[in-house]
Amino acid sequence: MEKRFDPWGSNIQNYESAFDEFGLSKFENKFKLNHYFFDRNIIIAHRDFDKIIERIKNKKPFIQLTGIATSGRMHLGHKVILDLFVFFSKFKNSRNYFALSDIDAYCSREKIKTMKEAKEYAVNNLAHMLALGVPLKSIYAQSQKEPRYYEFTFELSKKITKNMFDAVYGHVDLGKIQASLLQYADILHPQLKEYEGKIPSLTGIGLDQDPHAKLTRDLARRFNLELPSFIYMLHQSGLQQGTKMSSSQPETAIYLDDPKEEIKRKIMRAFTGGLTSAEEQRRKGGNPDICKVHEILKFHHPNTKLVLNIYNRCRKGNILCGECKQICNDFVSDMLKKHQEKVKKTQKIADKFYK
Ligand code: SF4
Repeated sequence: MEKRFDPWGSNIQNYESAFDEFGLSKFENKFKLNHYFFDRNIIIAHRDFDKIIERIKNKKPFIQLTGIATSGRMHLGHKVILDLFVFFSKFKNSRNYFALSDIDAYCSREKIKTMKEAKEYAVNNLAHMLALGVPLKSIYAQSQKEPRYYEFTFELSKKITKNMFDAVYGHVDLGKIQASLLQYADILHPQLKEYEGKIPSLTGIGLDQDPHAKLTRDLARRFNLELPSFIYMLHQSGLQQGTKMSSSQPETAIYLDDPKEEIKRKIMRAFTGGLTSAEEQRRKGGNPDICKVHEILKFHHPNTKLVLNIYNRCRKGNILCGECKQICNDFVSDMLKKHQEKVKKTQKIADKFYK
């Protein structure tokens, strides 16, 4: 019997044990959300997402919160987080909070030596966020929040013991403790009466951040707040085999401000699931499940039919890597060219952010 492949399913199997281990619910798009992230298994799991769906259906408000540590240039991996935030921000009943985590970046990232540096990255990141459609009024910098937010951070700290930190993170590094406290405050403070009050909230995170989510929910219980809901997304991996897309390793990432020559160079050098000779690939087919070029299309190309078509043609040996890379390069170059045009305008707004 012919082996059947599932273009959106392969990653799920790799995470099967994580569902058991963490006690997460698998995300099935019974919720009928209209974004390709949900159809392509980029969102793979959730905690209490039903509560958010209830609010959407009943036109009741819910909080959406996410954040980004401002420790480097933004790349395609960040774009996924921003796209998801923009998607939920379009619901009329969502109350949106986006943290530019400048203090977090300074405290928890070795390479950020001063707050000034973290703020410079925040300004840079902000211009990209605005260009991708994140609403300006939803964005705040940790270093510029109201006194109530900091007060709340200290209130949270009284409910956490050294042992809890040790158990969850395996260390009690002071900078990271401070950064974590702010992250709990980021997720929970919108529920304070000075902000939206006690209502359900939604945060999108990677599976690896689940211990953090669990501790945040534990804190919510102690403060008699709604337990925050989480949806878990896959991280886009790096361009080379076995790498993460990382701000500190330029060869693993396509940055949102990369010039077109650089985009092309990186895509042409990316790891693929192609075979050693064209003849062999035509005969046996390639493997798009391990291919970084296909992964870029899966995470970013809005046309599901096209992404599926390339997947199937690759499997059958009906397309070779050269042509496929060219399609990917044309798409990414065009998308980022338009994005960079927008950044020229949003940069002016971002430059005034800390003034
Ligand atoms: Fe990847 Fe395309 Fe080559 Fe298939 S043909 S392995 S999807 S680059």
